[in-house]
Parts: sequence; C-alpha cells; structure tokens
Amino acid sequence: MLGRLWLWVAEKPRIERLVTGSKLMEGIVNRFIAGDDLEDALDAIRVLNAKGIGGILDLLGEGVSDPDGAQSASDDYLRAIKRVQETGVDTTISVKPTQLGLTFDKGQCIDHLRRIAAEAAAIEMQVEIDVEQSEFVLDTLDVFRILQSDYPDMRQAIQAYLRRTPVDLETFSEVKPRIRLVKGAYAEPDEIAFQKKSEIDNQFKFLIDWLFEKGTDPGIATHDSKLIDYARFAAVRTGTDKKDFEIQMLYGVRTKLQEELVGQGYRVRTYVPYGSAWYPYLMRRIAERPANLLFFLRTLVRG
Ligand SMILES: Cc1cc2nc3c(=O)[nH]c(=O)nc-3n(C[C@H](O)[C@H](O)[C@H](O)COP(=O)(O)OP(=O)(O)OC[C@H]3O[C@@H](n4cnc5c(N)ncnc54)[C@H](O)[C@@H]3O)c2cc1C
Repeated sequence: MLGRLWLWVAEKPRIERLVTGSKLMEGIVNRFIAGDDLEDALDAIRVLNAKGIGGILDLLGEGVSDPDGAQSASDDYLRAIKRVQETGVDTTISVKPTQLGLTFDKGQCIDHLRRIAAEAAAIEMQVEIDVEQSEFVLDTLDVFRILQSDYPDMRQAIQAYLRRTPVDLETFSEVKPRIRLVKGAYAEPDEIAFQKKSEIDNQFKFLIDWLFEKGTDPGIATHDSKLIDYARFAAVRTGTDKKDFEIQMLYGVRTKLQEELVGQGYRVRTYVPYGSAWYPYLMRRIAERPANLLFFLRTLVRG
C-alpha cells in the first residue's frame, strides 16, 4: 500500500527535480544503477561474470513519444550489442517496447526490434523484452508473438500481478515460449492487478508451474526466497536440470544470495541498468521495500 502511494507521489515533477538535482542521492543511485554510460554497465557485468553471474543489459529510459527518440534508443541498443561482441562479456540485452515507439507506432517498434534481434542473433546474444504498464501489455505480447517465430530464443517478461496473465500465457502454449516471470513493478488498479502479496505470490507459483511444464528455459526473476525455493522444487519435480532454467535478480539487490545460488550450481543473471534516465526506475526500486523508502526519505530531508 505504502509502495503504491509512493509510486504515485514519485510521479510529481517537483520530487523528480529535488531527487535528480541532489548530490546526496548518489549513494542510493549508485547502489541500483551501474552508471550513466554503457561502459559503466559493461564494467559492472565484468565483475558479475567473474563471480559466475551473467548480465542483462538495460538501457534506462521509457515512453519515447516520437520517431527520432525511438531511432535514437534503437541506435543505442545496436551500439551496445556491438560493444558486447568486442568485449566478449556474458550478457543478454533487455529492451523496452515503449522506448522503441510502441506508444505511437507498433510497426516501427517491430522494425526496430527485428533489427536488434538480427544483430544480437549474429553474435549469439539473447534479447529479452521488458513488460511495462498494463495499457501496453497486449501490444507488447503481439510484438513478441510476431518476432518469436523468427527468433525463438527471444525472451518475454510477464507480470504475475496482472489478473489476465495466465490467459495470455496460455495463448503461447504451442510455441513453448521463453519467459521471464516477474511480480510486476507499476501501480495498477485493483480490477487489473492483484494488490495483496498473498494473491500475487499464489499467481506467481501457478505461473512457475506452467513455465516448468509448458515453457522453455524459464527465467524466474524475483528476490523472494520462498518463490525461488518454489522454483527449485518445480525443477526437481519436472526433472529440469539446474542449468536449464535461470534465476534473475536486479543489480544491487540480494547480491549475496545471487552468489550463493551460483555456488549451488544454479544459473543466475543480474539485470544491470545504465543511463541518465534513472529516475522512474529508482523510484520503483524504492517503492518495493519500506527500508529503502525510509533511507531515501531520511536522505532527502537531510539534504
Ligand atoms: C531481472 C528482473 C527483471 C525485471 N523486469 C521487469 C519487467 O520487465 N517489468 C516489470 O514490471 N517488473 C520487472 N521487474 C521487477 C519486478 O516486477 C518486481 O517489482 C521486483 O522484482 C520486486 O519483486 P520481488 O519479486 O523481488 O519480490 P518482493 O516481494 O518485492 O521482495 C522480496 C524480497 O526481496 C528483497 N527485495 C526486493 N526488492 C528489493 C529492493 N528494491 N531493494 C532491496 N531489497 C529488495 C527484500 O528482501 C524483499 O523482502 C524485474 C525484476 C527482476 C529481478
């Protein structure tokens, strides 16, 4: 409840100006964001790779509203793929459909994503598609459906908090999709999304079962130990090897657990955000945990 309220407060431009202009915020920003540049993210991924953890590159920024903005984001993604080839780091790349023009031209978004998928496939790098606010979910799944037939390695994120997700997922059962399962990070109304943790967790478990039975290489993206354990049991129950599914977490969150899971033989990837448009991403991370919110507010007040 507090988290949802915070997501609403955080959309106020005054708060954004206060936060992005404050030097005191550097500590909390640096905890969750690898840096302003692609090279910062590649450095962070090198450190993760040395611990046996893969990366998921995430260029920050969302809701682009014109073709030039979408082109510029697409160019940035292509540059990132080229640098991954040059540096040889172990990472996938995650893209946001609204950054590639989904809000104003689905065809353009598909064209950009197709080019990104082709360049990534040429260096055997995997592409993942983020899932954003509920109003974009159907179009995002359409984009995935169209590209998935040419690029079956592509992975789509889905949100356990959305009431409709099991029905959406079932429409992919014939293609055994590669999916990243997340709880969901946006403030959504009750008629669209479950609000209670117990309800979201129940749906998350239902979707874990679905993915281990009907999906390919499930990506279980959570820091919730109980749900990670549930996925581990699902793997044992379905005879899935530890290396045939992935546990994914966010940069700066539960880093010790990430290392422990690698030590136990699991495949782990960390989502590494970079770029200057970090404000909405940071606010979502702060909303997820009361301790983060308290720390953040104390820093703001002291400033
Ligand atoms: C790899 C990855 C990709 C994601 N992609 C998307 C996406 O495409 N679309 C989308 O809507 N959402 C995405 N998310 C975010 C997701 O929806 C959740 O908002 C986020 O993961 C928090 O939920 P949780 O499952 O960790 O469970 P929670 O119940 O929020 O947390 C469980 C425990 O994890 C720890 N924890 C969780 N978050 C934090 C934090 N910020 N700081 C410190 N500790 C924390 C705490 O110990 C907490 O008790 C992604 C998450 C991950 C890990």
